[in-house]
Amino acid sequence: MTVNVVDMLQEVNAVADLNISGTVKDFEYMGEKIAFDGDVDLTSKIFRVKSKYYKVVGTVKARLILQCGRCMKNYKFLTEFPVELHFTSKEKAIDDDVDLYYTDGDTIDLDEAIQTNVIMNIPAKRLCSDDCKGLCPVCGADLDIECCSCGHTDNDSDDQAVDSRFAILKDFFDK
Ligand SMILES: [Zn+2]
Ligand SMILES: [Zn+2]
Repeated sequence: MTVNVVDMLQEVNAVADLNISGTVKDFEYMGEKIAFDGDVDLTSKIFRVKSKYYKVVGTVKARLILQCGRCMKNYKFLTEFPVELHFTSKEKAIDDDVDLYYTDGDTIDLDEAIQTNVIMNIPAKRLCSDDCKGLCPVCGADLDIECCSCGHTDNDSDDQAVDSRFAILKDFFDK
């Protein structure tokens, strides 16, 4: 979503309310698709810091469609987080340590800024539910829906690995 800011804030040091809803493009993050489920809401104030320098301070609310890292199914996730976004036509902001994006001075494009902030505000481990059982590592069955028939159980592989390690130790001490 883009906003015409030059008409909204005609003078340097002007401030205005910027409360808008609009579409933000879906994107990929580390090979995973991050999709928006409907409009994204921005509740903020916008400041014209310099002639071609705008600052947006407020809250973003977005409904996302994420992929569960265990069962690979899509699930919905609501996120709401504060932002402070700087838009300038120059390469550098006034302060180096800010969340900085480009503007031509007339409009600001919020997509990249919101996408970047979404990534920082979603869980690193994305799960459809905390107790999602995921897929059977042997036959690929969805263990939330069915008990698979391949004979695999949760602890199979771990137990066998431990058993064989003990067997080796036992052999060692038996000698
Ligand atoms: Zn899941
Ligand atoms: Zn299985």
